[in-house]
Amino acid sequence: MLRFGHFSGGVHPKGNKNTHFYPTVRLDDFKEIHIPMSMHIGPPCTPIVKVGDQVKVGQLIGEASGPMAVPIHSSVSGKVTAIRKEVSSAGRSVEVVLIESDGQYTRDESVVPPVVTDTESFLKALRDSGLVGLGGAGFPTHMKLKVPEGKTAEFLVINAAECEPYITADFRQCAEHPDEIIEGIMLVMQYLDIPKALIGVEDNKPLAAEVLKNELTKLELKQNLKPDISVHLLKTMYPQGAEKMLIYSLTGREVPSGKLPIDVGAVVLNVSTVRFIAKYLKTGMPLVRKRLTLDGSGLKMPCNVNVPIGAMIPDVISHAGGNAAEAGKIIMGGSMMGVALDRPEASIIKHNNAILVFDKKEAEIPQETQCIRCGRCVEACPMHLMPTMLDVGARNKDVEQLEDYHVLDCIECGCCTYVCPAKRYLVQSIRAGKGYVRQAQAQAKEGTK
Ligand code: SF4
Ligand code: SF4
Repeated sequence: MLRFGHFSGGVHPKGNKNTHFYPTVRLDDFKEIHIPMSMHIGPPCTPIVKVGDQVKVGQLIGEASGPMAVPIHSSVSGKVTAIRKEVSSAGRSVEVVLIESDGQYTRDESVVPPVVTDTESFLKALRDSGLVGLGGAGFPTHMKLKVPEGKTAEFLVINAAECEPYITADFRQCAEHPDEIIEGIMLVMQYLDIPKALIGVEDNKPLAAEVLKNELTKLELKQNLKPDISVHLLKTMYPQGAEKMLIYSLTGREVPSGKLPIDVGAVVLNVSTVRFIAKYLKTGMPLVRKRLTLDGSGLKMPCNVNVPIGAMIPDVISHAGGNAAEAGKIIMGGSMMGVALDRPEASIIKHNNAILVFDKKEAEIPQETQCIRCGRCVEACPMHLMPTMLDVGARNKDVEQLEDYHVLDCIECGCCTYVCPAKRYLVQSIRAGKGYVRQAQAQAKEGTK
C-alpha cells in the first residue's frame, strides 16, 4: 500500500470512531416525514404535490428550477398532509412537504433505470436523481462533474478519508458495498473520460482500504478488468478529507487560492456519492434515503442507520436511545465542522452524514479569554491563513483586513478553534467575517450595475 504526501497544518483530535463495526440498520418506522424543498446549494424546488395527494417512494414532489437545482422525491408512500414553511436542519426557513407514511414503502411506477449512453445523458440522469455531494455541503453532483471548456479532468479523487471524529457512515459504506463503490468509480471514469482514479483512506481504517483493494483484485481475476484505480492509505490527520488537502495528499498538486480542483486536473467525489451513482443507474431509485452515524454522550446505543430523507431528528435519535428534549447539544455533522441545531425539530436532509447528541455537561461552551499570541492557530491552519488577524478583522467588521488576509480561503475546518488555549471562538468569528466580505462584494456588484 502506498503512502503519499501530506499537507501541512491540521490537528489530531480523538477519533471516537465508536461505531466502526456496527453494521448499518435500516429504519422504516416513521409516522410522518418532513421533506424540505431545499437541500442543495442553489434555488429551492417548487412543490408539485398538494395536500391530500397520495405519493409513492421515488415520486417527484419538488421540481427543480435552474441549472444549480436538483429535484426532490418522496422517501415514503403515504398522504401529503401539509405544505408549510419550517426551519430546516440547515438553519434556513424553507417550504416543507409533510407526508404521513403508510408504512408500505410502495415504489412509484416512474422509478426505472435511466437510459445513459454518453456524458450528456449521464449528467442529466444524475440531475434527475436529485444527487448532491453526500459528504459535503449539498453541491449538485451533475454541476460538479461538468468539466469546463479548456480544462481536463486527469484524476478522479475519491474521498474515503472520513477524518471527522465520530462519523463512520462512509466506512460502513466501504465495508458493506465495496463492489458498488468500484462500479460507481468506473462509471464516472467512463462517462467523463477520466483516465485515473485515486481513493484516499486514512490509515486508521485499513479495513476500508483492504475491501476496496479486494474488489479490484476480484475484477481482474473474474472479469479480466484492470481499471486504473488505486487505493492509498493517508496519514490520519484532520482535515485530511477536505478537498484541497486530499488532492494535495494524493497528487502533490496544490489548488491555488480562489481556484477549483478542476484547475489542477482533479474531480473529487465522496465514496458514498459514487456508490449511489452505481445503484441509481441500475435501479432508477432517486436519492430518497440516507446512511448516517448516530453517536455522542447523549445516546445509549450509538449506531449507523439508513433512514428516509425527511425523517424527523428526534425520531431518529430515539432509535439510538436518546431523548432530543433532554440533550445538551445536537450537532448535524461531525464535531469539528458540524452545525449545532438551535432546535431539534428538523429533519434529515440529503447531505446529513451524522447526528451527534451530547449531554448537558459535554455541551458546556468554554468561556473565551484574551489571545495570548501563542501562534498555535497559525500553525494548525491547513490553509496557511492567520486566524488571529481574521478574528480581529471579523470582530471589527473590517472588510479590507479580511480580504487582505484571504478570509474566503477559510474552509471552516475549526482547527484554529480546536488548538486555541484561550478558547477563542475563532471559526465562528471567521465565518461571520466571510459573510461581511460576501455582502460587501454583492453590494459592490449591485452598485456597478
Ligand atoms: S482559519 Fe479557517 S481554514 Fe484556517 S484553521 Fe481556522 S477554520 Fe480552518
Ligand atoms: S491560538 Fe488562540 S491564543 Fe494562540 S494566537 Fe491563536 S487566537 Fe491567540
